[in-house]
Amino acid sequence: MIIELFERTKLTASCPLTAAITLALTLTVAASAVPGKAGADSDPMPAQDSALRAVLWMRTAAEYEALCRQVYRAAWLHVRSETMKRIARPKPLAVILDLDETVLDNTAYSAYLIQSGLKHSKRRWQDWNRRNTDKIGLVPGAKAFIDRMKDANVHVAFVSNRSEEIRDVTVRILVNLGLGEKDELLDRDTLRLLLRTDSGSKQARRREVMEKYDVVALLGDNLGDFSDDFRSPAVNSIQGRRGKVREYNDNWGTKWFVLPNPIYGYWTKFIDWNRPGRYFDAPRR
Ligand SMILES: [Mg+2]
Repeated sequence: MIIELFERTKLTASCPLTAAITLALTLTVAASAVPGKAGADSDPMPAQDSALRAVLWMRTAAEYEALCRQVYRAAWLHVRSETMKRIARPKPLAVILDLDETVLDNTAYSAYLIQSGLKHSKRRWQDWNRRNTDKIGLVPGAKAFIDRMKDANVHVAFVSNRSEEIRDVTVRILVNLGLGEKDELLDRDTLRLLLRTDSGSKQARRREVMEKYDVVALLGDNLGDFSDDFRSPAVNSIQGRRGKVREYNDNWGTKWFVLPNPIYGYWTKFIDWNRPGRYFDAPRR
C-alpha cells in the first residue's frame, strides 16, 4: 500500500503541481503509530500523523541501523567497564530498558495505520499486537546487548508503558524473540517486566528496580524513560525540554542511552502543528 501511495503520485507526475498536491494530501492522510495515545477513529487525520517518511527511514535506512548499533555498543562498553570495577557493591548490577522502539520494532504497526488510513487508538494498538506478534521485530543491537547482560550476570529490567492488560501478549513477543524466560516475565515480582498500571510516569517503577539493584544504565527512545524531569510539569515547552537535556549533559552516553524515534513520542506534544513554519526561522545554537 505504501508503494500504492507513490504509484498514485507517479500517475500524476506529468503535472508536477498536481503530483505535489496529491503527495501532500496523501501524507496528510497517512496515520502514525503512537502507542499509548488515544484517538477517536472518526477524527480527521491531523498533520502530526503524517509519518510516512519517518516510518520509511526506520524500516529502510542503513543509517538507522548504524545509529542503533552505535547506541547499544556504547551502552555495552559502559556496562562492561562497570562490571570490571573492583569496588564493593551492596547490590547486584542491573540495566533498565524501555520496550517499544527501544527493544521492540513496531514500525509494522505504523505501516499498517498508513496503509489502512486508520488512526492510532489504545484498543487498535492492543488488538494489532494480539494478531501480529510475528510482525514485531528487534531494534538493531538490542538482542546482542541483552544477551551480553545475561553473560555478564547483569539483571535486565524492562520498564514499559505497555498496559498490564497486554502482559500475556507482550511476554509472548519477548519469548519468541529470545529476550527472556516466560515464567520470569509473567511474574511481576521478578522485576523483569514492569508494565503500566495507572500513571504514565516510570519513576516509581524505576525506583522499585533501584531499591534492589545498582542500575548502571538506562536505555529508551523517549526522555521520560530516563527521568520525570523531562515530563510535565517539570517541563512544558520545546525550549524547556532541550534546556533540561543540557542540564543533564554528563549523563548522555555515560549512563543514559537514547534510541532514535522520529515517528512518535513526547516531543510531538509541544509542537504547534498548525504553524510548522515557526520552527524554520532560527538556527539551533
Ligand atoms: Mg519507547
